[in-house]
Amino acid sequence: MKDKEYILKYKECKYDELSAEDLELVKAARSMTANSYAPYSHFQVGAAIRMADGTIATGANQENAAFPSGTCAERTACYHAAASKPGMAMKKIAVAAFTDGDFQEQPISPCGACRQALMEYEKLHGPIEVILCGRDSVYLLPSVASLLPFTFTEF
Ligand SMILES: [Zn+2]
Repeated sequence: MKDKEYILKYKECKYDELSAEDLELVKAARSMTANSYAPYSHFQVGAAIRMADGTIATGANQENAAFPSGTCAERTACYHAAASKPGMAMKKIAVAAFTDGDFQEQPISPCGACRQALMEYEKLHGPIEVILCGRDSVYLLPSVASLLPFTFTEF
């Protein structure tokens, strides 16, 4: 039997340390929290994806009385991007959450289903960098795969 380990290297930085391009993406994600439809959880999430052509695709979580029918912000943005610009690489995604009258203190992280959905596009077009937004700082990750070790990719 062998011991193995998985090491995740990522960066944490303040908003004023971000590049202008990343700050624009983060602002888009934070702004999208206002477009959330979250009457049940009151947890408003926004996501913004930088496309290969430089444009930004956005999404916000959309809840539904039939709970499984709702969709997270990350998948809303991802599918919006894929449907609007089929075949175009997604280069980076930023995610932010707003709850109880302020942005969430700790950087928000996508759920497993969103990681899997994003992974499909990452496998097709290359790494999608991830920016997880907190109230005062962000985490920068090199890829969706870094958030989803042992990804299911048999398709
Ligand atoms: Zn999700």
